[in-house]
Amino acid sequence: MMAGIGVPNYKKIEGERSGSLNYIDNDGFGYCREKQRDTYLYLRCKFMDRNDKDNTCSGRAVIDLDTDNLRRTCEHKCTPSPLDFQVLEAKTEMKKAAAATSTPFSSLHRSVLEKVNPEVATKIPIRTVINTMRSVRRRT
Ligand SMILES: [Zn+2]
Repeated sequence: MMAGIGVPNYKKIEGERSGSLNYIDNDGFGYCREKQRDTYLYLRCKFMDRNDKDNTCSGRAVIDLDTDNLRRTCEHKCTPSPLDFQVLEAKTEMKKAAAATSTPFSSLHRSVLEKVNPEVATKIPIRTVINTMRSVRRRT
């Protein structure tokens, strides 16, 4: 039996657009969902741009939903950016907390940043997230 079966070797992170999901593999490459066929989820690199053939990444992967195992099917040309995804993850957490609580935005922002890597924290000044937090709170 393969080691780690049943334990996902990727992470799912909510994207900045609501309802969009990003998939991150263990090396820090990010993917968007392309299509699903049976129990296979086909993913393409976040940096794949069909309109810009010279400056695109052709990385692809497939997730077997039965075993929750991500397998890369086409190598990347892009550079993985795990920090960017940690930034996205922290922003999503702030957004969720803003929608679910009435905690003042500044303390909410601070409490999320206390938990992340300092390098990630410097990339998320409050002005970059305040509008998102306001808009999700207004809707609830
Ligand atoms: Zn790529």
